[in-house]
Amino acid sequence: MDKVHPGNGPRTDGVDSPYKVGAAQISSSAGFQVMIPVLPRANEIASFINEIDQTHIYSNNGPLNQRFCHEFASLIEERLTRPATPSVTTVANGTVAIDLALRASGLRERAHVMMPSYTFIATAHAVLNAGYTPYFVDVDEETLTLTPAIAEQALQDGLKPAAIVVVSPFGGPVDIPSWEIFESTTGVPVVFDMAAAVTNIRYVGRQPICISLHATKMLGLGEGGAVISSDSALVNRIQMMTSFGFEGGRRESVLQGGNFRVSEYAAAVGLASIRDLSRKIAVLEDRAAFYNDQLSGTDVTTQCGFGSDWIAMSMNLILPSNRVERILAQFDYRGIQWRRWWSYGCHTHSVFRSVPRSELPITERVAFRTIGVPFHEFVTNEDIKEICSIVA
Ligand SMILES: *Cc1c(COP(=O)(O)O)cnc(C)c1O
Repeated sequence: MDKVHPGNGPRTDGVDSPYKVGAAQISSSAGFQVMIPVLPRANEIASFINEIDQTHIYSNNGPLNQRFCHEFASLIEERLTRPATPSVTTVANGTVAIDLALRASGLRERAHVMMPSYTFIATAHAVLNAGYTPYFVDVDEETLTLTPAIAEQALQDGLKPAAIVVVSPFGGPVDIPSWEIFESTTGVPVVFDMAAAVTNIRYVGRQPICISLHATKMLGLGEGGAVISSDSALVNRIQMMTSFGFEGGRRESVLQGGNFRVSEYAAAVGLASIRDLSRKIAVLEDRAAFYNDQLSGTDVTTQCGFGSDWIAMSMNLILPSNRVERILAQFDYRGIQWRRWWSYGCHTHSVFRSVPRSELPITERVAFRTIGVPFHEFVTNEDIKEICSIVA
């Protein structure tokens, strides 16, 4: 095996923060950085900021936040394949979106919330913060997501969860209608963590859909999140929870909440981000197509439908088990950043090690070989060719 060359950048296996990657570091090797988020430039935000100067409204669901929610709801609605009328509220971030969606769902008892171990760690923190104990279950090998069949098995094994959090795998679509049927037959409420899937929502029902508007997601505010549902009363309750449970303009607190709002400055970035979204999608679709082309005929795959049916900010290769270590050593040697974005599953993190769970054979089989590779606007065809020549 090749020795890791010390001059070829840090091993990035979940250790370094992707959040710090930014333009200041863009250099000739930018193409080999695993992610470079692009948010609107100062001049694209300026006209919205000028409005703040006029209104002197800086937060508390001001005019820019309201406009953002309205435009955001329209862009969600445009992409649906089954008609629905989405209601939207912004929240401080994607983790809080899940936390509040669980709390607002009026769950029966304080108990377990079933969720996949294979997700970003935020999902598990949100469940704990909402007052529940996660119960980790496995995912489907093909789609990397929790399925109704896996959830039904856990119920048959005796689990009585207060709710289930279904996670979109790295932004991939989720079969929401099948979870509507699941909820109506089992009575177990379902909340969707579709944090990275803002452009891949095909249907909106009553079950809340939680979105992250973090800089590393497709529609970035820097920090931010949203909850979407066809149930406007539910969305309204969550919005009240973001602001101390105050009802409408009254200063009476009628729900347990806190301060989980976005500022007007963040909403300004969001409005500019919406205007840049179709350009961003087109560039990333083009990069994904080149990757898929280079990978065709090899034994390395990507998530199903990635680049053809849907797109997100991270691209994951599913490497053949027996070559994972060798390929990663080669990446390190050539200074190509990579990440196990979701590590080996939540159950392997020390905070969650004692959390109850079912057997997780698929998670154990897929997590270690699902590897994020450089995917962003600055990765060139030459970069992609080099990356793919290593994995092929
Ligand atoms: C990004 C992400 C979150 C957390 O969103 P934040 O806005 O960073 O709090 C939660 N779940 C998944 C699957 C994510 O990808």
